[in-house]
Amino acid sequence: MAYFRATDPFPLESADHTKLHEFYARLAAGRLTTTRCAGCGRLAWPPRAFCGECSSDRFDWVDLSGEGTIHAFTVQDAGLPGGFPGPRVFAIVKVDGLRVFSILVDAEPAKIAIGGAVRFSPLRVADDPNGNARWLPAFRAA
Ligand SMILES: [Zn+2]
Repeated sequence: MAYFRATDPFPLESADHTKLHEFYARLAAGRLTTTRCAGCGRLAWPPRAFCGECSSDRFDWVDLSGEGTIHAFTVQDAGLPGGFPGPRVFAIVKVDGLRVFSILVDAEPAKIAIGGAVRFSPLRVADDPNGNARWLPAFRAA
């Protein structure tokens, strides 16, 4: 089957496609990480290969705690692409002072509340066109 990038909703995570491939490699190993600028020390989310504050392109990888609280969320019941189970819950999760836009897995919408505790739980999604596993940051109720 031909691969159509326009219909693939997931990032291409390999070193051939992104300078941030180490983020995805750590994600696959169950670690939530981001970048800290080596120039000015700014911690960023999402991870960045270029600092908008000081223009540096040098950065270090930093592990985040993986424990967070729900800052905001929304529930998508309709319009999900074929093959995606619904409802899909998207949330902004506060982690170590950062706001991480993410998915809540195995969430019951009626039980979700602002301020609720969640724990990092990486989500495996469709493999890339070369058959390599892909992961996205996700959380579940703690
Ligand atoms: Zn910087």
